[in-house]
Amino acid sequence: MQTAFVNAEVTTLDPARPRARGVLVSDGLVERLLDDRPTGLSRDVDIVDCGTAAIVPGFHDCHVHLTDTGLLGGKHDVRDCRNIVAILKRVSEFTEPQLYAGNFEEDRIAERRPPLRKELDSVAPGRPVLLTRVDGHSCVVNSAALALLGVDKFDGVERDEAGAPTGRLFGPANYAGQSEFLRRLPMEARRKADERAAQIALRGGITTAHNVIVGDAPLERLEEEYRANEALPLRVISKSCSTDVRKVKGLGRRVFGGDIFVDGSIGSRTAAVAHAYCDGPQDRESGNQLGRLYLTREQLFEVYDEAAEAGLSLGVHAIGDRAIEESLAAWEAVIAKRGPLTHLRPSIDHFEIAHPQQIARAARCGILLSMQPAFDYLWGGSGGMYVQRLGADRATIMNLFKTAKRAGCVVCGGSDSPVTPFSALLGIQSLMTHHVAAERLTLDEALRAYTSDAARLSFDEGHRGTLAPGYDADFVVLERSLDAMPVDTIKDTRVLMTVIAGEIKYSVL
Ligand SMILES: [Zn+2]
Repeated sequence: MQTAFVNAEVTTLDPARPRARGVLVSDGLVERLLDDRPTGLSRDVDIVDCGTAAIVPGFHDCHVHLTDTGLLGGKHDVRDCRNIVAILKRVSEFTEPQLYAGNFEEDRIAERRPPLRKELDSVAPGRPVLLTRVDGHSCVVNSAALALLGVDKFDGVERDEAGAPTGRLFGPANYAGQSEFLRRLPMEARRKADERAAQIALRGGITTAHNVIVGDAPLERLEEEYRANEALPLRVISKSCSTDVRKVKGLGRRVFGGDIFVDGSIGSRTAAVAHAYCDGPQDRESGNQLGRLYLTREQLFEVYDEAAEAGLSLGVHAIGDRAIEESLAAWEAVIAKRGPLTHLRPSIDHFEIAHPQQIARAARCGILLSMQPAFDYLWGGSGGMYVQRLGADRATIMNLFKTAKRAGCVVCGGSDSPVTPFSALLGIQSLMTHHVAAERLTLDEALRAYTSDAARLSFDEGHRGTLAPGYDADFVVLERSLDAMPVDTIKDTRVLMTVIAGEIKYSVL
C-alpha cells in the first residue's frame, strides 16, 4: 500500500534534503520525498492532495499526563472561574459520586485563594470533591474527601488556628491524596479520559506523547496502564515514576520517570530554591521559604546508580535551583563511579531555575533537558507569577532555552498538560517568544525541540522526528508554513491532518 501526499511545502529537518513538495509513504514508512511533479509513481498509489498546505514531522510532547488531561478537560477545568462563587457553582453542577476537577490558580481568582473545605462542603455535602491546583503540586478537598483519603498521617495538611484542616493539601499529603483519589475512580473513567487526551493530541498534530505516570503502583497495575496506553491512537511512551528500579525494569522499557519528584513547583511555593520566595509563605504548610526537597542527593544517587546498572534512562522533576543542584551532583557522582554515561541520556524535566554554570554541567554530563516552553508564556514577564514569587531579577534568568542550546544541551519540548495546554504549537511559539529576547529560539530550533531533538529522549531519533527515507511516516499537515505567519499566531495554526505510520488519524480535509 502506497500513499503519496502531494502539493505541500515539506520541511523534513533532514540536512541531506531539507525541503520537498510531497511524501511517498509505503508500509508505514517514508519511501521517498517528492518533487512538484512526482515521477515513477505506480498507478495504484493513493494520492492525497494537501492543497498547498505545509508538512512537518509529527510533534512529540515529551512530558504529559494523559489521564489528568482527559479528566480535567471541559467543565472540569475551573481555570475560567474568576471567583469562589463561580467555582462553587461549577462544583454544585456535577452529579458524579466522586468529583475530580481543578486547574485553579489563586492569582486568577478574585479572592486569591481556592474555596476551602467548608465552602466545598456547602455545595457537595457528603460527596468527595478534590480540586487540583494548576501545577498539581497542591490541592483542596472537602470533608468527605478528607475522610476518604486518610492523609492525616502525612506531612502537608494545612490547618487553621483551631487546628482543623482547611482542606488544602501540600507536599506528601497532596501527592498521596491525589493518587488515592484517582485510584478510586472507575477504571473505565480513566480509560475514557486517556482516549479524550489522545484525541486532543491528534487534533494538535502530536504523534508521540511521553505519558508521565506519577506515583507508584504494583507491577500488574503499571502493566495494565502501559497496555492501555499502547491501544491509544498515537504513539505513547509510558513512563512510570516509581523509584523501584527492579520493578521498572520488569516493565521492559528503556526509559522511565519524568516526575520523580526532587521538589515541587513555584506556583505552590514548593520548588526547592536557593533563595527565599518573595511573596510567602502565606501557606503555612507549603514548607519553609526555600520550598521543599523531596529527595536528597544521596537518595537520588541510589536511584541513578541502580538505573545505570540496569541500563535504563530516567527523568527527574527538578524546578528550583536547589533541586537542580542535587540532581546534577547525584548524576555527577554516578559518573565519577562508573565513567562517562552519555549513552544513558537521563533527563531533568522542567529545569526552570537553572544557572548558566548548572546548564554547562548538564551539557557535560549529557543530561537531556525536558522543558516546558509554555511556562514562560503563561508565567513569565513583568506582571507574571514568576516575578511575584521570585522577584524581577530571578524571574528573568529562568527557562534559559537559548543558553541551554548554546551550551550544547538537547532541549526537548513538552506541555506537562494539564498544567499548560496540550499543544506543541503553543510550545513552539513560546520557545520563539521568550519574555527575555536573548533566550528565544529560531523556528528551526523550536521545531526540532518538538521533533528531531525530542525523539532523542526516547532513543528514537534514528527513525522518527525527521522525514527521510526509511523513517516512520509520522507527520502533520498544517494550513500554512510556520515561517509564513507572524510568530505570535503560530499557536493558532490549523492542523489539517495528523498522520502516524502513514495512516491518517485525524483530518479536516
Ligand atoms: Zn513534573
